[in-house]
Amino acid sequence: MRWQEWQEQAHHPGGARGDVPVLGGVMLPLVGRARVYSCGITPYDVTHLGHAAAFVWVDALSRVLHAEGADVIVCRNVTDVDDVLLAAAERAGEPYDEFAAVQQFYFEQDMASLRVGVPAIQPRAHTRIGQVIALAAGLLARGAAYERAGSVYFRGGAAARAAMPDEAQALRLAAEYGDEPGDPRKDDPFDVAIWRASEPGQPAWASPWGAGRPGWHAECAAIALHAFGPSVDVQAGGGDLRFPHHVYQAALAEALTGVTPFARARLAAGVVRVGGQKMAKSAGNLVLVSDLLAKYPAAAVRLLILDRPWSEDWDYEQAELDAAAARLDRLHSAAGRPGTGSGEAALARIRAALRADLGVPAALAIAEEAGGQAARALSALLGLW
Ligand SMILES: [Zn+2]
Repeated sequence: MRWQEWQEQAHHPGGARGDVPVLGGVMLPLVGRARVYSCGITPYDVTHLGHAAAFVWVDALSRVLHAEGADVIVCRNVTDVDDVLLAAAERAGEPYDEFAAVQQFYFEQDMASLRVGVPAIQPRAHTRIGQVIALAAGLLARGAAYERAGSVYFRGGAAARAAMPDEAQALRLAAEYGDEPGDPRKDDPFDVAIWRASEPGQPAWASPWGAGRPGWHAECAAIALHAFGPSVDVQAGGGDLRFPHHVYQAALAEALTGVTPFARARLAAGVVRVGGQKMAKSAGNLVLVSDLLAKYPAAAVRLLILDRPWSEDWDYEQAELDAAAARLDRLHSAAGRPGTGSGEAALARIRAALRADLGVPAALAIAEEAGGQAARALSALLGLW
């Protein structure tokens, strides 16, 4: 059986035998569309392995859901209005929008090299200002937000405390991600800006509250609401976005629409560390995708990322990349063998492994052992050729 036949089968409930994909413990029965909202990049720097890991996992999820018969629609934003980006553009002495466009070009090159599918919807935040203003106005009308000195804040305390009961940890993360918990204009340290008043020299758009710019969480909430309506099937992104970003994105959308939950399932890909430290420019430990691709096939880098449980944080080591390249060779050798039997039984087991929380390691083991069509199908499905 080929993936295409599986898709045909998956469209007919009798053929699918009631099996449904599971993601993070959540059953995802798919009827028609699968709406995947993926947090994209803030284009202020080169793509590192930590970014790539999240996007390769979203790509693998899309491929598997597609093979299961869903019409997968991915929306991945580009956060081209962000204070981190503004600071980087200022250091480079370039207008922020030109700077972001160039960085985005390099990012897309890296994604194409890694065979990450191009999202159907890829909005740049600066083109969605009106949607953020509408979100702020809607939340003000519902009493879920308030205006202070040209900024509009969302009452996010309840959502933040429910998601992160450890208050000290929550405050630390809120500060790290630019939510300014100490801002004295806020009623609660966990309220967040939907709309920020801009100082002279900062990018600014007209709004009912004066010149300003959108907040990051509000950008993703507004873009997802516009693309998909009040809910999505999967809210995806890097594991470091769990709090505060994903929590506030969902809380903003839920407060506006009243539809809960905003996301049926979440895919927050494990954070990539180097020597136990999160990969970050400030830590000086970036592993650049372009450097890896100069020495290794893209499929080996994909395999390094995918050959593990998706939610676990992990440490990058070159020895592991060498091991991934060796495993890729074994998979390709297996694909060249005639394979055992018709391959149908192995394909069914591979499909079951992938349906069970994207169990790539188990699927690989079955493909290597069975060889032939099963190994070829898995390589094609996961972009490991
Ligand atoms: Zn986001």
